[in-house]
Amino acid sequence: RKQIFKLSTGSSKLDKLLGGGIESMSITEVFGEFRTGKTQLSHTLCVTAQMPGPNGYIGGKVMFIDTEHTFRPERLRAIAERFNLDQTAVLENILYARAYNSEHQYELLNSVAAKFHEEAGIFKLLIVDSVMALFRVDFSGRGEMADRQQKLGQLMSRLQKISEEYNVAVFVTNQITSDFGAAPADADLQKPVGGNILAHASTTRLALKKGKGRRRVAKIYDSPDLEESEVTFAITSGGIDD
Ligand code: ATP
Ligand code: MG
Repeated sequence: RKQIFKLSTGSSKLDKLLGGGIESMSITEVFGEFRTGKTQLSHTLCVTAQMPGPNGYIGGKVMFIDTEHTFRPERLRAIAERFNLDQTAVLENILYARAYNSEHQYELLNSVAAKFHEEAGIFKLLIVDSVMALFRVDFSGRGEMADRQQKLGQLMSRLQKISEEYNVAVFVTNQITSDFGAAPADADLQKPVGGNILAHASTTRLALKKGKGRRRVAKIYDSPDLEESEVTFAITSGGIDD
C-alpha cells in the first residue's frame, strides 16, 4: 500500500495552511501574478523533497519541467546551504527538462513515467513551472480555446495518473488572467487561467499575492476541505521561509 506523504514548503505557516504541506498522489497548483514566488516555491520544494520528513518520509529525487527557462541551479545551492545539505548532491537529485511547446510538454511525461518506473520509489516530486504558459502561446486564438482545453485535460489527467501510480507530489505553477496589463487593484479578484479543466484537475489551489517587501500572502482557493484563511511568508535567499 502506498503511503501518502507531505512535503514542506519551507514556511511552517504555509505548511499548516496546506494541512501539512504539498501532498503526494495529488496535484497542487499555485497561481499568482509575476514575482509572487511561484518559481521560488518550486525551487524550495526541490530541496525540501530531498530531506526526511514526518511519518517516516525519507526524501527522494525531483523531476523539474521548466517551460519558462527560469530554473536556476544557483538558487538551489543557496537553499541547500540554508538546510545544511551538500549542494552537489542536491543538484544531482534533480532531473531537469525544458519543454519547448505544449505538445513537447505532454510528450515529456512519457519520459517522466519511464524514469519513475525505472527508479521505482525514488522520485517524490514532479514540478511543472508553468503549466499553462506554452498552451497560451500555442493556442492563442479565440477559436482555439476548445482545442486548448481538450489538450490541457489530457495533460492534467496524465499528471494525476503519474502522481497516483508512482506516489509522487505533483506541483504546478499557473498564471492569472491579467498578466499583460496591470493587475486588478483588488488581488482577490485575480483568477487563475486554465478554466474548469484546471480547476477540476488540481486537488489543492493556492493563490499568492504580493505583500510588503519580501513578504507574500497565500490563500487556499476554492477548497472543499481546507480553511480559506490567509497566511504570510517570506521569499529569502534560502528560499521560502516564515
Ligand atoms: P513569474 O510569474 O514571473 O514566473 P513568480 O511568481 O515565479 O513570477 P518568482 O520568480 O518565484 O516569481 O519570485 C520572484 C521574487 O523572488 C522576486 O521578488 C525576487 O526579488 C525574489 N527573489 C529571487 N531571488 C531571490 C533571492 N536570492 N533572495 C531573495 N529574494 C529573491
Ligand atoms: Mg516563475
